[in-house]
Amino acid sequence: MSNASLPPPTYADVVSAAQRLAGVAHRTHVLRSHMADTLLGTQVFFKCENQQRTGSFKFRGAYNTLSQFSDEQRERGVLAFSAGNHAQAIALSARLLDMPALIVMPEDAPATKMAATREYGAQVVTYNRYTEDREAISHRLAQERGMTLVPPFDHPHVIAGEGTAAKEFLEEVPDLDYLFVCVGGGGLLAGSLLATEALAPSCRVVGVEPEAGNDGQQSLRSGQLVQIPTPHTIADGAQARSLGQITFPIIQRLAEDIVTATDEQLVEALRFFAERMKLVVEPTGALAFAGARHGNVDVHGAKVGILISGGNVDMSRYARFLAD
Ligand SMILES: *Cc1c(COP(=O)(O)O)cnc(C)c1O
Repeated sequence: MSNASLPPPTYADVVSAAQRLAGVAHRTHVLRSHMADTLLGTQVFFKCENQQRTGSFKFRGAYNTLSQFSDEQRERGVLAFSAGNHAQAIALSARLLDMPALIVMPEDAPATKMAATREYGAQVVTYNRYTEDREAISHRLAQERGMTLVPPFDHPHVIAGEGTAAKEFLEEVPDLDYLFVCVGGGGLLAGSLLATEALAPSCRVVGVEPEAGNDGQQSLRSGQLVQIPTPHTIADGAQARSLGQITFPIIQRLAEDIVTATDEQLVEALRFFAERMKLVVEPTGALAFAGARHGNVDVHGAKVGILISGGNVDMSRYARFLAD
């Protein structure tokens, strides 16, 4: 089941994903805030994927992908390379579906993330990120053990799974004029675009990237897939160096625009979520709100949806953001 041999995902795949996820993933809350309405001069709705299982929307794509494995794939198990939310999403999905999981992580990954991944039942293999190539290691391990490698965004089943968050959002708030979605490799954005095209074709979907890593914006504006060096930003879930071969054409066809937010604007948004909405959000998870507020999109008087993508942040790091 290599991703290259599968057709690109469609809205029908998002609908099937939603059926697989029913009763397994949380149908996360949609929250309002008077203060957010005042700040943006409009009505704002927040879909809280920071409260999804494993703390991010990535559980949706991971579970949707693993639940379509053949019996043989299930027996051999799944392999992923990630130091972040994809690792935990794959680890929990594998446990729920009763298959082995191997996660390849840099040896200097935060101890809490490694521990969380192990707690979900995955085996963790570490590598030195300065001297070893994680893709080469992962491919070798996958080959040796017959495991199926699942990438974090550029896979049709992953994209379809991620699209279920926007599907739920639009079912609950059908008349959004704008939907803001953060962008790393573009899996969440591509899935959100498929759902929006089907359910709310007049709703404009805007991607938000860290200012230091605006490869997606450059790609959209130049019409070609632009690759950049790993960007330096506190939004560690959006450090992908480029959009994907599968995500980019969907984004190119359907996205209104991609805007950016600075690290300072992300910190401001984290404080807003903590203080006003009592929500723990990770820096990457705050991109959509920061982009809606500062990305020069005229949302005045429009009905605005914000997808909060995740809430996994090391607590001492989080405390520093709030205290700065
Ligand atoms: C992975 C991730 C993203 C980026 O998602 P893509 O599908 O790669 O664009 C954004 N926010 C959080 C919390 C994530 O874990």
